[in-house]
Amino acid sequence: MDSHTHVWFKGALPNDFFNNDSGYQYTPPDIKNVIKEMNEVNIDYIVIIAYPSREIWRVKEDFPINMINFVKDYADKFSIIGGIEPNKLSVEEAKYWLEKQYEAGVSGFKLHSVHSHVKPNAYREEEGGLKQLELMYEFAQDHNLPVIIHTGTSMFNKARNKYSDPIYIDDVAVDFPKLKIIMAHMGRPNYISTAFQLVRIRRNIIGEISSIPPKKLLEYIPRLEEISFKTIYGSDFGGPGVKGIAQNLKEFLSINISDKAKEDIASNNPKSLYKPLNKSK
Ligand SMILES: [Zn+2]
Repeated sequence: MDSHTHVWFKGALPNDFFNNDSGYQYTPPDIKNVIKEMNEVNIDYIVIIAYPSREIWRVKEDFPINMINFVKDYADKFSIIGGIEPNKLSVEEAKYWLEKQYEAGVSGFKLHSVHSHVKPNAYREEEGGLKQLELMYEFAQDHNLPVIIHTGTSMFNKARNKYSDPIYIDDVAVDFPKLKIIMAHMGRPNYISTAFQLVRIRRNIIGEISSIPPKKLLEYIPRLEEISFKTIYGSDFGGPGVKGIAQNLKEFLSINISDKAKEDIASNNPKSLYKPLNKSK
């Protein structure tokens, strides 16, 4: 499966999205073509991350709900991730949207530190005491949903890369011991060693290799095999430079690690974390 895509369909996006000034041109695909491409490489279902981002994409907390409604005729093919911008909502609004997205059937939440301009540990007293963020982690932990946290740089206008260091996730792992934390992109390119070490020492941090070109993967993470039992595959398709859902998977399956590691990373591990929409509860 593919546990990290931004396959955003036109019918789920607000008009405002098409006037964004991110500096990146995104053309929404046709849902039937996406499913055809998935079938070509035996992908059962993909995770679509529909996170809110007022600054970059002009989408808000209703985005994942609109996405769920849009794909509902193909509920076995998609898993939808929601999220909140904790620093842009009141505590009441944060509660409201977490509940609402949960009821709609999201498979987890994403915190985009770099696009929302928030440190993953900003809930801590010494980091500003952002209650709304604590609420999201607690909610996810209580409902057994994973939280994806972005790490590594982003090239979009208005992205703030000072928030991209994975070290802030260490606090989250300590303070929410039962929370499943997915560390997206393994801090690529400049924080790989921090990310790798955190996956090794923190039981509840899972490594996620999306947006690293598969051909460069072993150059970036030479000891990938060692963490293969708690690492998951994703393409980041929809993001800049990613060739395609099928092409990216083919390239991953041709890298030089064991077949067992490939199967764990691209199938067994992600399937245990994310369920498709029709099985989300
Ligand atoms: Zn992404």
